[in-house]
Amino acid sequence: MKAYFKTFGCRVNQAEGEGLKERILSDGVTTLTNDFDSADLCVLNTCTVTVEGDEDALRLMRRISRRNPAARLVVTGCLATRSPAEVLKAAPAALVVGNADKENIPAMLGCRPVPDEAGFRAFGGKTRAFLKVQDGCDMSCTYCIIPSVRPEMTSKAADAVVAEARSLVERGYKELVLCGIRLGRYLDESGPARVDFVALLERLLALPGDFRVRLSSFEITDVTERFLDAAEAAGPKLCPSYHLPLQSGSEAVLKRMKRWYTAAFYARRTEALRRRFPDAGIFTDLMTGFPGETQEEHEESRRFVTDLGFSGLHVFRFSSRAGTPAARRTDKLPESIVLARAEEFRALDGRLRERFAAAHAGARRTVLVEPKGTGAEGLTEHFLRVSFSTNPGPGLVSAVVGRDALPLPLGGEGGVRGMPSPQPSPA
Ligand code: SF4
Repeated sequence: MKAYFKTFGCRVNQAEGEGLKERILSDGVTTLTNDFDSADLCVLNTCTVTVEGDEDALRLMRRISRRNPAARLVVTGCLATRSPAEVLKAAPAALVVGNADKENIPAMLGCRPVPDEAGFRAFGGKTRAFLKVQDGCDMSCTYCIIPSVRPEMTSKAADAVVAEARSLVERGYKELVLCGIRLGRYLDESGPARVDFVALLERLLALPGDFRVRLSSFEITDVTERFLDAAEAAGPKLCPSYHLPLQSGSEAVLKRMKRWYTAAFYARRTEALRRRFPDAGIFTDLMTGFPGETQEEHEESRRFVTDLGFSGLHVFRFSSRAGTPAARRTDKLPESIVLARAEEFRALDGRLRERFAAAHAGARRTVLVEPKGTGAEGLTEHFLRVSFSTNPGPGLVSAVVGRDALPLPLGGEGGVRGMPSPQPSPA
C-alpha cells in the first residue's frame, strides 16, 4: 500500500503530522509516495489559521478526489475540526477526523504500528526533531481562531518528554525543537513536583549527549528573569534564537487585538534578553491591516519594529476568520491597503535579515549539517541557513559563516502563506 501525506500549518501541526506518518508507516505494509495520483491512502493534516490556509487544503482535497477517487482520503487537523462540512463539500468521500481524535487515525485505518522501545517513532532521515510538549490556547486574541480548534490546554507529562528526548538523542538527533501552541504555558502537575516550562527545559538541557535545544514560538511574557537565568546556565546547549510574536508595534492596535502586553513591555523584555545574549537572533510575527488600523498606527508599528532591530519578520495580512470578534468588525480595511502595508514590512524584513546575516559573517558558529546532493546545508544556532560545497559529514560542526548566509525564512518550516506560525504563532 502506498501512502501520501501532506501537513499544512504550524510546527505543532507538523510535529503531529510526522508522528501520524511514522505510526502509519511503521505498520510495515505502507510505503511513502509524493504522488497522490498513485497513492492508495492520502492523509491531509490541515490548518485553518487563515483563509489562504483553508483554500490551499480544500483545493488539494478536491484535486485528489477528482484525480484519484479510488484512494482512501483522510482529512484531519484544524480545518477538519473547525468545519467538517466544508471538508465534506470538497471531498464527500473523505474520512474527516478532528484534532481530538487525530491520535486514533492509525487504529481507524486498521494499522498496527510497531512501537519501538520508547513507544514512539521519529522523523526518518533528519537530524532535527520537533518535540511537541504542549497543546491548546485559552487566550482570546480577537483575530485568532485557534482557541476554537485547540481549546484544551494540555501538556505532555515531563517524564514522557524527557524519555522521548533521551531516545531521540540516542538515535542521533542533534537538535530538538520544542514546540507547543503556548509553549511557555507548559505545566505538568501530575507528579509530586510541579513542572513548569523552565523546569522542563532544565531537565532536558541536563540530558547527556551531543545535541542542542531550540525553542519554537515563545511569548514575550514568558521571557522572565528565571527563564533568562536558565538560558544563561544552559550555555551553547540552548540556541540563542527566539521567535517572539509581536503582531503590532502600535499600542492601540495591540489593545484591539486583545494581546496581553504593551509594545513598551515587549521592548523592555527584548532589551533584557539582549543584555544576556547580545548577538541573539530575535524574530517576530507581524500582522498588517487589522480592522481599523490607521495610517498613523501602521507607521507607529513600523517605527517600533525598525527601532527594536529584529533579525527577521514573519509578515502576514489580517485574515478574517468567521466566529472571531475581529471578523465582526465593520471597519475592515480595503485589501489594497492591507497588501501595501504588508509589502512595506516585507521589504523591511529583507533589510533586517541582510543586516543580521552581515553581523554574523566571519564568525565561527556551530552548524547542524543536513546532506544535500553532493554538498550540504546547515543551520547555525542563531537560525542562519548556510551551505557547504562539500559535505562536512553529519551532525554539529564548527564553521566560519560566509557572506551569503541568510536567516531561515520564518514560517519556512511548516509555516503557511500569510499566517503567523502559531505556532501557531497565531500566538
Ligand atoms: S494568537 Fe496565540 S495566544 Fe492569541 S488566541 Fe491565538 S493561539 Fe492563543
